[in-house]
Amino acid sequence: MDKVQEPFFLPAPGVLNMVFGKPTRAMTHEELHARMKQFPKVDLHRHLEGCISPETLLYIAKTFGGALPSYELDQLKPLIQAPHDTPGFYNFLEKFKVFRGFYPNREAIEHVAHTAVKEAAEDNVKYLELRYSPSHFAGGGKFPERDVTEWIHQAIQRAAAEFDIIVTPILTISRDYGLELAAATVDLAIELPTGYFYGLDIAGNEIQNSARPFADLFARAKDAGLNLTIHAGEARGAYNVREAVSEFNADRIGHGVRAIEDPEVMELLKEKDVMLEVCLTSNVHTGIVPAVKNHPIQKLIENGVAVSLNTDDPAISDICLSDEYVLAVTELGFSDADLKALNLSALKHSFAPDREALIREIGGCWNHF
Ligand SMILES: [Zn+2]
Repeated sequence: MDKVQEPFFLPAPGVLNMVFGKPTRAMTHEELHARMKQFPKVDLHRHLEGCISPETLLYIAKTFGGALPSYELDQLKPLIQAPHDTPGFYNFLEKFKVFRGFYPNREAIEHVAHTAVKEAAEDNVKYLELRYSPSHFAGGGKFPERDVTEWIHQAIQRAAAEFDIIVTPILTISRDYGLELAAATVDLAIELPTGYFYGLDIAGNEIQNSARPFADLFARAKDAGLNLTIHAGEARGAYNVREAVSEFNADRIGHGVRAIEDPEVMELLKEKDVMLEVCLTSNVHTGIVPAVKNHPIQKLIENGVAVSLNTDDPAISDICLSDEYVLAVTELGFSDADLKALNLSALKHSFAPDREALIREIGGCWNHF
């Protein structure tokens, strides 16, 4: 007879101040993972640059060309995946080095975009906001950014139709590539017909490069109808979250978890209904929190701040969104009802061109959970 397995978790009731339902019955880790995979999910914060697994990278190098520091999977993994390294913001950013200037041709870039969408759909992500920097894939001018954008756009649309997932693309500019390049990319996004980008994101090194020089660009993007999300309050404190909301009119904040350090900033987020795009494992890998169980997400919710659960860079962190849901349940005591509420709130804060239509289309996905 099979040995009876010990219950894997029993979430403490009342951990959150939003107690929507009963805790899920005790399950084994495998059962819980299977259930979280089955759970329909929304991801508002995922970088295309961080979606390329070591296996995909090797496949691209072997099929389309492109120089890698190693062609052995075991040697490649620690160079591009965070779990192999000491947690830290700089160590995490280092993982993107191998990808810069790598992409050899159009086919390779299309393969990256198509695979990212396919893998999200396979994880039962129903709605994905996929952000990318055309400058990253253009490889220092090897390809025109307009062409790169067109290739990625088409590959995303193709994969979305093929795998039954709704994808909203967001443009990422980097604080690290300078204002001139960022301005040219934003101008390109504004010139493009509707459908290419529904939002603007700024990423990169928050410690060394302030978002302030980009303020005019944020304003220009908003005037042109793009939503705005700003990476802030991750490597630096609550001040950057306040600045992003009060001065740059951010609609959402990438991470923003250090808002927890300042009650006034949490109040501001609540008042303006600005959602924090939380990414649990990424925050551990960047050294923002020592472990998922120490994550302030529950306290943010208790303070009335809107939050969503996202992946950030699934391949760099070696995770999928289902893994993050498992952690939310086992480490933080979230129930199915909590997760459902986060997903519905994510849809309400989405950058989809017609939010109401999106909610009508997939809002019912969670009815039987
Ligand atoms: Zn990010």
